[in-house]
Amino acid sequence: MTQKLILVLNCGSSSLKGAVLDNDSGDVLLSCLAEKLNLPDAYITFKANGKKHKVELTTNPDHTGAVAALMQELQTRGLDSSIAAVGHRVVSGGELYSESIVITEEVVNGIEKCIPLAPLHNPANLLGIRAAQDIFKGLPNVAVFDTAFHQSIPEHAYTYAVPREYYRKFGLRRYGFHGTSYRFVSEETARFLGKNKNDLRMVIAHLGNGASIAAVANGVCQDTSMGLTPLEGLVMGTRSGDVDPSIFSFLAENANMNITQVTDMLNKKSGLLGISELSNDCRTIEEEAANGHEGAKLALEVFVYRLAKYIGSMAVAAGGIDALVFTGGIGENSDTIRSKVLAYLGFLGLTEDKEANVAARFGNAGVITTADSRAQAVVIPTNEELMIAHDTARLSGL
Ligand code: ADP
Repeated sequence: MTQKLILVLNCGSSSLKGAVLDNDSGDVLLSCLAEKLNLPDAYITFKANGKKHKVELTTNPDHTGAVAALMQELQTRGLDSSIAAVGHRVVSGGELYSESIVITEEVVNGIEKCIPLAPLHNPANLLGIRAAQDIFKGLPNVAVFDTAFHQSIPEHAYTYAVPREYYRKFGLRRYGFHGTSYRFVSEETARFLGKNKNDLRMVIAHLGNGASIAAVANGVCQDTSMGLTPLEGLVMGTRSGDVDPSIFSFLAENANMNITQVTDMLNKKSGLLGISELSNDCRTIEEEAANGHEGAKLALEVFVYRLAKYIGSMAVAAGGIDALVFTGGIGENSDTIRSKVLAYLGFLGLTEDKEANVAARFGNAGVITTADSRAQAVVIPTNEELMIAHDTARLSGL
């Protein structure tokens, strides 16, 4: 039987990430990253078997050009005819989509309707969809939404305490993001612990450059920290997370800043970077904090304290806590952050097993609390591409 491969695309406004996966084994046969799209020096880098090579996108430096270059690479490797379907990461499905879906013209219209909720991302995702339809003619395309898993969040958790008319007229509410990661990790956690996911009250912290946390109970999402946009919630690499919304008027009056400038500052210049005045990268922050850098030390403490506070509130949303799960680049690798967070959480019945915590790194899953802890903390590597590939294969009838 010929191998059935799934192409997974994740498009940004000037970038395109692609991965070709074997849906059965989960192996990535080829991955690519196109950058500087829509600029004259756009290029795409391919990676297979640990080897990288770069191709300039001179004639067609846009999303379609990048997908065409990917098709050419697949042809060179004799893989093009094995691609059976294309899965697309789509950032916002608003209230329209609570599950992944095969892309039809109606779905394209639906994704367009959600553009006000993800004005930078959904248009880029649509460019990727159009490019795939154009170049991989006749193949099924599937949309997998970042927001879909959070559509089970109850009204009392997604409603902002502002006049209801803004929700009715503009859909102003909390939506959440990282949903594909949470769905994957919640299933993996249940499998890893040998439990039924419907019987586990989980608090999952997805800690990457963007960071959020979610409560999952009875197998569905109960609450999450990101809101209308990814800015709400935890301290992140460059995002502030929760702030007093009056920061806008305060900085308008005192620093002569406008809405765009404050929004930009909160999204791109805040978080670990803003506090440390050094870097948004957690590794650098940890290294410099260990060297005594005051800004880095404070950034770590603020990051960890906010996270611990949110774990407490997500335990309320989940109706208790059986498993605290760490995932994402920081969650999977930083025993320092995990250790500092667990130090706050003895009252929830979580006690760190120091050796196990240090051992659970670089892609290794593991329980990192002591055997006599009332709840367990675990490290579970996420794999959003594989989740997208699985949905794509299932909905394409493969
Ligand atoms: P993204 O949100 O871009 O997908 P990732 O999930 O790749 O982000 O996570 C990136 C973050 O993970 C960075 O802050 C990086 O410093 C951090 N990270 C990766 N490895 C380690 C490590 N060994 N120790 C601490 N932080 C790490």
